[in-house]
Amino acid sequence: MFHNKIPIFALQFKNFSKMGVLKRIKIKDVLDSGAVGSEVLIKGWVRFFRNNRFIVINDGSSINNIQAVADESVINAELIKKITVGASVAVTGKLVESQGSGQSVEIIASHVEVIGVADPEKYPLQPKKHSLEFLREIAHLRFRTNIFGAVTRVRHAMIFAVHEFFTKKGFVNIHTPIVTGSDCEGAGEMFRVSTLDAKNPPLKEDGSIDYSKDFFGRETNLTVSGQLEGELAALAMSDIYTFGPTFRAENSNTARHLAEFWMIEPEMAFYELTDNMDLAEEFLKYLLNYALENCIEDLQFLSKRQQEEEKNKPQDQRSMELIEKIKFVIDNDFARITYTEAIEILANSKPAKKNQFQYPIKGFGTDLQSEHERFLVEKHFKRPVILTDYPKEIKAFYMKQNQDGKTVRAMDILFPGIGEIVGGSQREESLEKLENRMKELNLPVDEMWWYMDTRRFGSVPHSGFGLGFERLMLFISGMGNIRDVIPFPRTPKNAEF
Ligand code: ATP
Ligand code: MN
Repeated sequence: MFHNKIPIFALQFKNFSKMGVLKRIKIKDVLDSGAVGSEVLIKGWVRFFRNNRFIVINDGSSINNIQAVADESVINAELIKKITVGASVAVTGKLVESQGSGQSVEIIASHVEVIGVADPEKYPLQPKKHSLEFLREIAHLRFRTNIFGAVTRVRHAMIFAVHEFFTKKGFVNIHTPIVTGSDCEGAGEMFRVSTLDAKNPPLKEDGSIDYSKDFFGRETNLTVSGQLEGELAALAMSDIYTFGPTFRAENSNTARHLAEFWMIEPEMAFYELTDNMDLAEEFLKYLLNYALENCIEDLQFLSKRQQEEEKNKPQDQRSMELIEKIKFVIDNDFARITYTEAIEILANSKPAKKNQFQYPIKGFGTDLQSEHERFLVEKHFKRPVILTDYPKEIKAFYMKQNQDGKTVRAMDILFPGIGEIVGGSQREESLEKLENRMKELNLPVDEMWWYMDTRRFGSVPHSGFGLGFERLMLFISGMGNIRDVIPFPRTPKNAEF
């Protein structure tokens, strides 16, 4: 998928021909090579088997399958019975130009081996359209579908691009802890981590649970964000980023929330809010561009899928074609407005006047819901929007306080079809102001001594943001539900696979 594909491929060919023994080659490499006339060995899973002769195989390396043509001399009746959808096979043969339409090359098989059978009576995936809901129930097998193959490859490309972007910019990747003792991360409900006996926990005299007897000698949780630790690193390394799992025990069963999701959190010393916005915009555009340059076949497939799904929707509710939409975001500056301006736009909007918002806009202080965010992006500005300077009451304690005493230097990036994709801010670098705000919110300043130390010793203006990786994947893949862009979704009442 990435650079140097031709040299690597050439190497593989050389290797197997030299040794006289065929080495397995990935289907993508076979298709890319166009090395008609070569002997190849491919291994994969049967997608279709037609006329007891044409075996269509996929090995996950590409959205494209390869077809092997096998005559009776190669597959006898016994073998034919075993070549069913889902069985794993190894096929040796000569690569030739394809006779049929739809593919450029195919294999004239000289040897076919069934590695593992798949009982057709029991194999749940048949070569027909399955609903996404059904596929979630067989998450262990959905990698074998075109949709999840495509999503999984694009997801990998995006992981790689994230690291490439920050590496090129001289950022350092930091692993922040997954188990945290800080209850100050402040972004929602947390999952407790404990080895205490749930039926019979040690109690303190007042009857509350005695966490000093717990594994870490204190109450611990799964992290909701790596930011606070990221700040410690940034105030020494200058530019860092984290890319790790985060956990939120909110009971929000929406198509955009997971209980376990991956977040990318860069944190930059000497960055003010505008620098922060510039970086986030450049970063998102880099990722989208990377997807266009490296995943076009998968994106074309996903685009077709989305258009088919949307056929039944009324015209005005259909989204822009996927690749066009990605290009549109790359080519246009994001709109940048303050929260206060956004409230004004929303209050004067048609849906507000017609009482069509589920959550009414009640002036300054209203916490924006996804319906409001999407109105701004999809109807008003018609491009991504960065909202800044939110009321301090609806944002976290660490955000830099503005002169007005009412707002903080927050910035959220809103995307079409998604709503909030990035949340970030300039951080409060003044020890005094930070302490005062924490006291107002009854946060344990003393327990947070390690965080306060960054403000005590050599404090500097700094900023950062969090990009929800699965929200990005929703946008890039055109999938409608966040459960379909992560291999093993964790949502309320669901952790089977
Ligand atoms: P939202 O308001 O959409 O619930 P948030 O404001 O709680 O999000 P932040 O704490 O700002 O989210 O987290 C940073 C980013 O992480 C968000 O911009 C979003 O992209 C992503 N994110 C937050 N919560 C979830 C979740 N439950 N599942 C998937 N991604 C999430
Ligand atoms: Mn947020």
